[in-house]
Amino acid sequence: MSTFRIAIVGAGPAGYFAAQALQNSQTDQLTFSIDMIEKLPTPWGLVRSGVAPDHPKIKTVSKVFEKIATTESFKLFCNVELGKDITLEELETNYDAVVIASGSSRGRKLGIPGEDLRGSFSAAEFVPWYNAHPDFVDVDIDLSCDTAVVIGAGNVAMDVARMLALEPSELDPTDTAEHALERLHSSSIRKVHICGRRGPEHAAFTSPELRELPKLEHTDVHIDQHQIQAAKDRAEAEGEVPKDVKSNLDTMLAISDAEKKNHARSMYFHFLSTPLEIRGNSKVEEVIFGINEVKDGKVVPTSETFSIKCGLVVSAIGYEAEEIAGLKYEGGRVLNIDGRVTGKHIYVVGWAKRGPSGVIGTNKSDSSDVVKLLIEDLKAPKNGADLGDILSKRGVVHISQANWELINQAEVAAGEPHGKPRVKFTDRKRMLGFAG
Ligand code: NAP
Repeated sequence: MSTFRIAIVGAGPAGYFAAQALQNSQTDQLTFSIDMIEKLPTPWGLVRSGVAPDHPKIKTVSKVFEKIATTESFKLFCNVELGKDITLEELETNYDAVVIASGSSRGRKLGIPGEDLRGSFSAAEFVPWYNAHPDFVDVDIDLSCDTAVVIGAGNVAMDVARMLALEPSELDPTDTAEHALERLHSSSIRKVHICGRRGPEHAAFTSPELRELPKLEHTDVHIDQHQIQAAKDRAEAEGEVPKDVKSNLDTMLAISDAEKKNHARSMYFHFLSTPLEIRGNSKVEEVIFGINEVKDGKVVPTSETFSIKCGLVVSAIGYEAEEIAGLKYEGGRVLNIDGRVTGKHIYVVGWAKRGPSGVIGTNKSDSSDVVKLLIEDLKAPKNGADLGDILSKRGVVHISQANWELINQAEVAAGEPHGKPRVKFTDRKRMLGFAG
């Protein structure tokens, strides 16, 4: 029987699904010993620091992760940073294969004037801020203005817009970061504009997310019915409208038609609007948009512009992978062929492999496909050094699965009296205390 040692870097969905695929591939002749390395003191990746707090159902996938983690021959090493506490070269030396599952955490830049003004943020800062990521606790999100602009027409933009536009008491029974909840409760924001550069037929939102909007109890949602109808006409003129596009357009039409309740809070959708400049003296004061039109099926700029006065801008236009020394990158992701990093026993899964696309479940088949290739490539097992020994010789304190379970229990217990699923800890020192 051969036991191969596999290191997985990143404890998010793609990493856990890679571990699960390895576990499911075991036979009497072939077994795996898996070490999962994570730079944060806590696992679960985007399920903890990306998924919106008002989407608790999506987070129940963490039960699957815990089942994988409590299977024999799986070890969790949180608070261990690749490149600082251990190098990629060392992992390559000591393991039979290394799976990079480190995601994409850097927000894409708009590349327009004023993007770096105070009050302009990337969703890559805003989302981890409201989700209690320890590195984003101190991001100074000023919500003292009346109007916010969210740039992008994807599900992250939708999450950000909803978090800003809903009545904060709707977040009280969620695991929103304490510091964010406090700010949101005193927020002056009443108007949130969400802006996409192409037409509604090309929006990247998915219908379930759109269908949630009419359920917001304290927010009116405004969509220009003519703009959606025109998009529908364009799409129909091109032939059979894809099911997801039809569903999106029908949902948007229904929202545009719904009676507005005169709520103090409102959300406005703008399509065919390209951000050209963010203006302001020392901080954000307005965003200038170029108005586009669709000509012969192509989105082209017109000479017209419009402006939205605002005090906060969040751009949610996609992500790029944070670079790891020793790997090559192209287009914001690790250079790979079907997940194989050529010439090495290194593989890549999830957003680090394919870019920021798909839902959590997409990673299951994606990681499984890559693991098949990894297994095909295996030769004879190596006799590598134990990661726990290497780290303790270096004085690196890691959070094991047992330590994480204590943190998990303590967070859940802290939430219970307040009717919340948990109160997330943000202080690294406090969390490291659970490692003794
Ligand atoms: P996304 O779905 O790719 O959307 C990015 C948006 O940004 C697109 O509308 C894109 O427009 C726009 N954009 C890109 N560059 C731009 C620029 N320079 N100026 C203006 N707009 C620009 O990405 P995402 O929203 O970050 O989501 C990432 C993935 O996570 C997606 O697969 C998403 O479905 C998933 N996700 C799912 C959920 C959920 O299931 N509830 C929640 C959050 C995220 P163009 O199309 O014109 O390029």
